[in-house]
This record gives sequence, C-alpha cells and structure tokens, in this order.
Amino acid sequence: MLHNDQLEQWDRENFFHPSTHLSDFARGDLPHRVVTGGEDCHISTRDGKQLLDAFAGLYCVNVGYGRPEIAEAIAEQARELAYYHAYVGHGTEASITLSKMILDRAPDHMSKVYFGLSGSDANETNIKLIWYYNNILGRPEKKKIISRWRGYHGSGLMTGSLTGLGLFHAKFDLPLAQVIHTEAPYYFRRTDLAQSEGAFVDHCVAELEALIDREGADTIAAFIGEPVLGTGGIVPPPPGYWAAIQAVLDKHDILLVADEVVTGFGRLGTMFGSDHYGMRPDLITIAKGLTSAYAPLSGSIVSDRMWKVLEQGTDENGPIGHGWTYSAHPIGAAAGVANLKLLDDLKLVENAGSVGAYLNSAMQDALGDHANVGEVRGTGMLCAVEFVADKADRRFFEASDKIGPQIAAKLLEQDDVIARAMPQGDILGFAPPFCLTTVEADRIVEATTRAVKAVLG
Ligand code: PLP
Repeated sequence: MLHNDQLEQWDRENFFHPSTHLSDFARGDLPHRVVTGGEDCHISTRDGKQLLDAFAGLYCVNVGYGRPEIAEAIAEQARELAYYHAYVGHGTEASITLSKMILDRAPDHMSKVYFGLSGSDANETNIKLIWYYNNILGRPEKKKIISRWRGYHGSGLMTGSLTGLGLFHAKFDLPLAQVIHTEAPYYFRRTDLAQSEGAFVDHCVAELEALIDREGADTIAAFIGEPVLGTGGIVPPPPGYWAAIQAVLDKHDILLVADEVVTGFGRLGTMFGSDHYGMRPDLITIAKGLTSAYAPLSGSIVSDRMWKVLEQGTDENGPIGHGWTYSAHPIGAAAGVANLKLLDDLKLVENAGSVGAYLNSAMQDALGDHANVGEVRGTGMLCAVEFVADKADRRFFEASDKIGPQIAAKLLEQDDVIARAMPQGDILGFAPPFCLTTVEADRIVEATTRAVKAVLG
C-alpha cells in the first residue's frame, strides 16, 4: 500500500479532508502528507521524516504515540467482543470500569457519565440534557445557551453554533437562534489597553450580566466554557474570572457546562480544569484525553443535581430518548481504561505540569522580548505565542499576511517540528504529549525562535 505511487492522486481525487482549503488541496497547492507511524512525541511520514509533534495531533495524543499497553487492550477487546450496544442497561466490563474510573477522578459532585464518540457529539448531548432538565422542571422557556466568542465546542449544528469563531458560522447559516455569545476572557485582546486584569474581569462579568438582563434570566438555561480557551487562541483566564462568572450563573440559576475536551485528564497538570479553577460545573464534556485518541470516545459527566431531575424525567416519561449505536463502544472503552491507567502508572499528569511549566518559561525567555511577539502565554502543557505588527500599540498583522501559518510552515520545514497556527489571529499554539522531556522542550523553543527570526527578522 505504502509503495503505491498513486496514493497522492487518489488522495487529491477522493478524500474530503476536514478543515482544509478544498480547492487548494485538489489543485495540489497544499501539501499532501501521509503519516505512517508514531512513537512518544514523534510521528513519521511516508517520505521518511521524523517530526516532533508539539501539538499531540489535535491536542489529544496525551500519553504519546505508539503505546503498546493501549494497542494491546484494544486488540484484546476486539478479539473478545468488538461490539455490543449499551442500550437498556447493557454494558461491558470495559465500559463499566471506565465509568467508575472517570467518576473517581471527576469533581465530587459529579454522578454519572454518558459515552459518545467525539467532543462535538458530547456537547450535543449536553444541550439535549439541559433542555430536557428544564422541561422536566416545568421551565420550557429557559433554553438559551450562552457561549463565549472564540470558544470552541465542536462543528455540528448546535456545537458549531456554540463555537465562537467566524469560520465555523459563515455560509453555514449558524449560529442557531438558541445560542448567544458573550465576551471571551482574553486579556491581551482587551479594547481598553489601560485596563488592569481585575478591571477586565469586572468588564467580562458586566457584559455577561448585561446579556442576561437583555435576554431575561428565565430564558437562559446554561453557560458553556472551556476552563482555558483552546482553539480560540490558547488563553488562560485572568485570575478570579471563573469565580466571578460562577457567582453570576448561580445568582440566575444558569447551569455551567465545563468543556474539558482539551483540559480533561491532565493537560493543565491537574486531572480536570474545573478543579484547577474552582468551577462547579453541572456537566463536564470529555473526549480527546480520555483515550489519548487511540480510539474515538467522548463523554458527558452529569452532576448529582442534574441526574436527579433526569431520573424524575424517566419516571414521568419513560426511557430517555437519547443514544448512539456506538455509545460506550467496547473498543473505545478498553482504550480509555488502558489510557487512564498509563497516565497514573507513568505519572504523566505531573509531567504535564512540570515540563509544561518548563516549556512556557523557556519560550518566554527566548521570545518574550522579540519586537513582534505580543505575548507568550500558557499553563500546564499548553503554550501560545501571539504575534503583533507593533508591540507598543498592540497593532495586529493583517489576516491576509498569514504570519502565524508562515511561521508554523517554517518551523516544520526548517526543524521538523509541528506547532499549530491557531485559526483566528496570528497565534502559534503548542500542546505536546505529556511525556515531553525538557530536551524536547528545548528543541521546540530553539526551533520556534529560528522560525520566528526567519519570517519576522
Ligand atoms: N470542545 C473542545 C474544547 C474542543 O477543543 C474540541 C475539538 O477540538 C471539541 C469540543 C470538539 O471535539 P471533536 O473534534 O472531537 O468533535
């Protein structure tokens, strides 16, 4: 297969790649890349390259590539029982064990986990559960969902609406009417440059309060947010943000969904971002790090308070009308059990915290003073470098200059290091596997410095 010299032609003629410039790819203006293998923090490609993957795929291969423990767990499950459904009380040892392992690690007030396949479908589940919850409580008007500009929650109809990035709305007739957006806690992009972090948090809270006032609290069901904004720019919130937002939500009886698709299972150096920031979510979305992407699996973790109402709902209305054929798929569940065990055995969450801090501080030392680096920021094993045309007045580059994509391309071309040009703004994102070593972190920083110099001088 790999010696098939028609692979590129087949690729360009037949494969509809996600998040890709379709005509550029079909024409051959975008590279076609065939990934053939992976080990720890590296992937190999068909043309014989070894690339240091400083974005862990799509921040999901948290334990690193090529782990035989997970591959074997998948193979064993496939041999024993590749599939049975989870409807009407069915399960497998893997799915039942994994639900217990997740709840053992989740915040104390969480009660049950529903399994899906992707972060997007888990958030779709969350919205349905929220609507169901308010219908059972006799509040049929309380249905709108607040999300943040620059939030990322998936690319389905509802979840693409929750996502607060223009590219995911334009020409798709999104967002849907039930979704409303508020300010992101993105201090670097504040409009008033003189504002302190504390004053900016007050501003975010005031914006949220004003939105709730305009719409009416009795029409708003929930607020969804990532503990740390991910795809929108890798932006940790300013101190005090989540406590202040949580207080507003509590006051207006608005549920909180913590979308932990990126932060769940250790990326911040703690098991969950909700614990890290003292959030009290009613639902937690999990995906990526649950299996380190060795098999597709996601979940919605439901709080005690919501669970009680869901049970009441089925007493009144019969079985819950929600389920996928592949919910709690045994192969995904087996991968999840092996993955969470590996995280513990190798102390990878601790490593994410310590090597992540090393990466962030080395990146700050290397690039913090560069004339076109507006900010180096991050937390845990997440790091971002944001570029500006002028540092003194924080003037951004024109989007058409494509500075972020140019630097990411240079990094790959010069040093075989993969970083991600984040989709909105000139932001280079890093989210390596948790097994990153300090030597590899140094290599990422040195290569990034060279790429920045090559593009911006
Ligand atoms: N939520 C967050 C925070 C994400 O980062 C993502 C994907 O990057 C999703 C949801 C959607 O997950 P998926 O791509 O698996 O549908």
